[in-house]
Amino acid sequence: MTAYVPKKVRQQVIERAKYRCEYCLIPERFLATYFHVDHVRSLKHGGNSDFDNLVYACPHCNQHKGSDVGTFADNDGETLIRFFNPRRDNWADHFEAVEGEIVPLSAIGQATVTILNVNQAERLILRRELAMIGLYPDV
Ligand SMILES: [Zn+2]
Repeated sequence: MTAYVPKKVRQQVIERAKYRCEYCLIPERFLATYFHVDHVRSLKHGGNSDFDNLVYACPHCNQHKGSDVGTFADNDGETLIRFFNPRRDNWADHFEAVEGEIVPLSAIGQATVTILNVNQAERLILRRELAMIGLYPDV
């Protein structure tokens, strides 16, 4: 098990993601920073660096996710809820973009929105501006 991802595979991950963060859907061309090719299921949780476990993520989402794979439900604090998995889940089943705000539609969506802090003010302002001119979500 290694974290090394060959350049060719990295490019395939980026193209599969359509050059957007697979969690918040922000296109990379609107952020002056490098996006990350990272693991959906982190190495320390038994993930690998195969194409089917890789995700393209903006630095904000990736840093907030870290090696986490889920969190606790709000209502009881004991039920583990996994995060949205771009490899097996359909974004629109778990989230809705409303004028740039990412609204959760499921427990998985709620856990992901909360822990990845996808509606942090500056990010929300950018997505609202993009939504106003029809560039977000770019699906
Ligand atoms: Zn993101």
